[in-house]
Amino acid sequence: MKIVKDTAVSFHYTLTDQHGEVIDASAERGPLTYLHGHDQIIPGLERQLEGLDTGARANLAVPAVEAYGERREEMVMEVPRDKFPADEELVPGSQVMSQGGGAPVVFTIREVRPDTVLLDGNHPMAGKDLNFAIEVVDVRPASAEELAHGHVHDGNHDH
Ligand SMILES: [Zn+2]
Repeated sequence: MKIVKDTAVSFHYTLTDQHGEVIDASAERGPLTYLHGHDQIIPGLERQLEGLDTGARANLAVPAVEAYGERREEMVMEVPRDKFPADEELVPGSQVMSQGGGAPVVFTIREVRPDTVLLDGNHPMAGKDLNFAIEVVDVRPASAEELAHGHVHDGNHDH
């Protein structure tokens, strides 16, 4: 059947960036399953999957603005080194979680300077135009329970 709102969709994908480098692929994990029309996947991908049929293969180009958003330079900040425990090894490219109130934010360490650390709060995929080579494996109507929960129940999902 075709992908429409309130269907449970399974699809394989190979995700590449604008240089053709593979960022992620579902081949080894098994297909990704999601509830269509419930904002579970990035908007540009969900919009382009709409209407595809079981077995369909397609190359879907998703611009950054419809994926993880554009990079925002105000999300890059320099903080004093002594905000981190002295014995914490700070490795550029690794990720740290903000402490403090509110929802935790993941920062990527850009650069470790003598007295400060440059942190980037942008999503690692922000600013990237993405390409998904997809194959629709299965489309079925979601159950009333799945719709009530807002997610798909498959395999080891248990509650
Ligand atoms: Zn559930």
